[in-house]
Amino acid sequence: MKFAILGDIHANLHALQAVLADTEEQGVTHYVCMGDIVGYCAHPQECVKVIRDLDCPTVKGNHDEQASKEVTQEGLNPLAEEALDWTRSQLTPSDSQWLRELRMQRLVRDFTIVHATLDTPHKWGYVNTELDAAASFSYQHTNLCFIGHTHVPVAYTREGEFRTIPLDILSIEQGQKYLINVGSVGQPRDSDWRSAYCIYDIERQEVELRRVEYDIRGAQAAILAAGLPEKLATRLEKGR
Ligand code: ZN
Repeated sequence: MKFAILGDIHANLHALQAVLADTEEQGVTHYVCMGDIVGYCAHPQECVKVIRDLDCPTVKGNHDEQASKEVTQEGLNPLAEEALDWTRSQLTPSDSQWLRELRMQRLVRDFTIVHATLDTPHKWGYVNTELDAAASFSYQHTNLCFIGHTHVPVAYTREGEFRTIPLDILSIEQGQKYLINVGSVGQPRDSDWRSAYCIYDIERQEVELRRVEYDIRGAQAAILAAGLPEKLATRLEKGR
């Protein structure tokens, strides 16, 4: 049983399609989605459809929450806000309702998934440090928990930061707890433009970070054609 853990797709259909092609090559048998399916890029409706068709355990991200509300909450960064206002106009009532009803966290097999943190999932805090990870760990009842939200892949153990896992394979030791950020499919922010996602192989007890090249020019052209801010296109190639 091999799970693909897909996070922060952010309406980047070009990236999502490349990642799904990679999951098939890798023999993935199951999927989970870590939220933030929409926001920032130009194909929210298409990406929601792909994930709904996968019919996989999915948790809610902050952009999913905002896009499925009537109006965007004040105080967000202007780029996110502009993209959310546009995104809302693209979603069908059924998509909005589906996004609105997503759960904050889920238990899947022997692991937990949550978009932001386990300590206060609805507050959308960020796990950027060992201290943040420690706060989330106190609420983690499975050995393994996957998160997203920062768009930076990294793994923590109870002792603090375990190691970053670029193009690496992490062996899960029994009795040890792991909090793993799977990175972002649609808008990586670790200075690597390639899509990030993780594969969790249950039999081998291994987590692998994958990086996948995709048609970034296509994704950028779609952002500009939709009339979204140019910066949302240029940041993709910087991986920021
Ligand atoms: Zn996100």
